[in-house]
Amino acid sequence: MPIIAFDGQEYLAEDNESVLDCLIRHDVSVNYSCRAGVCQSCMMMMKEGTPSEASQKGLKDALKAQNYFLMCSYVAEEDIAITRPGKDFQSVETDVLALDRLNADVLRVRLARPDNYSYFPGQFLNLQNPDGVERSYSLASLPDDDDFLELHIRHIPGGKVSGWAHTALKVADRVSISPATGDCFYTPGQSGQNLLLIGTGTGLAPLYGILRDALRQDHQGEIHLYHGSSAAEGLYLIDELKALDAAHTNVHYHPCVSQGTPPAGMTAGRADQKALEETGKLGGWRIYLCGREDMVKSARQKAFLAGASLKDIYADPFVPAVE
Ligand SMILES: Cc1cc2nc3c(=O)[nH]c(=O)nc-3n(C[C@H](O)[C@H](O)[C@H](O)COP(=O)(O)OP(=O)(O)OC[C@H]3O[C@@H](n4cnc5c(N)ncnc54)[C@H](O)[C@@H]3O)c2cc1C
Repeated sequence: MPIIAFDGQEYLAEDNESVLDCLIRHDVSVNYSCRAGVCQSCMMMMKEGTPSEASQKGLKDALKAQNYFLMCSYVAEEDIAITRPGKDFQSVETDVLALDRLNADVLRVRLARPDNYSYFPGQFLNLQNPDGVERSYSLASLPDDDDFLELHIRHIPGGKVSGWAHTALKVADRVSISPATGDCFYTPGQSGQNLLLIGTGTGLAPLYGILRDALRQDHQGEIHLYHGSSAAEGLYLIDELKALDAAHTNVHYHPCVSQGTPPAGMTAGRADQKALEETGKLGGWRIYLCGREDMVKSARQKAFLAGASLKDIYADPFVPAVE
């Protein structure tokens, strides 16, 4: 059985056990959240051994080159030695600047942007509650325009981090955040490409950042944003999105309500279904999918079948944490 050396101790891994599961089984205190290779909370550096391709999926090239890997996605077959990420990749503390309700369930959290904190709108960071529990939240702010980091946090009753953010977090509190990561963001270079943005609930957070970033970079192609919720009350930033639609001939905002009869100006139906029905063939389009995991999975498949190239589909499934 392989040995995992970490923090001066050695741990014996069982067959087919991920490095993360092995450390948790031995009661080692390490960061983790989704356990599915998405949130990157469990990133470590391998000092001895070679990370597999799967364990480096989604990491930036610079991190891959330095042997960073995700513990949840690596099963050791030989002895390895690992260490915590270097200072540049560790969490930093920052201040809560403002807390505002965007609707009954969604809290807008604005944090002071730490010095040298770089990110692309649409990437996500991991926010820690006072018990050290981490969850991922997407960035809706624009680094060149905003001196704050903006998160939209939906209240999951009893949720360790969203529950704390909604009920206990206060302006001027200090919170710990990881560096931003993820590949769901706008990339310039194909200004005429049509963009299809589909999000459910707080899946709007990354899309709001991506949409405004595309406009800031003078994107010329059509931009369709479908934001869905089961009820109209679940939508938010409606006036802001209508204003963007009115101000830019290439921006088209489609608020969608999947249950009951929606108010005037909103579409009845699921955002992903409506988007795929109404846009038709997607050859040459770039697609962004954010929010519920099942929606992201099925919309990715349908967009591909409608002609979108897999390399043009960017997705952030909001995979829940596994304790
Ligand atoms: C890449 C990424 C980006 C994300 N971005 C955002 C974002 O911008 N805004 C945002 O609000 N969330 C986002 N999430 C989800 C977020 O990370 C947390 O999973 C969510 O806030 C719940 O965490 P919690 O600690 O409050 O609940 P937990 O303590 O993890 O869960 C409490 C209970 O609620 C259940 N539960 C968890 N999630 C849900 C759900 N969605 N619906 C119903 N039940 C649930 C759990 O199974 C558990 O039983 C993102 C997730 C990922 C992976």
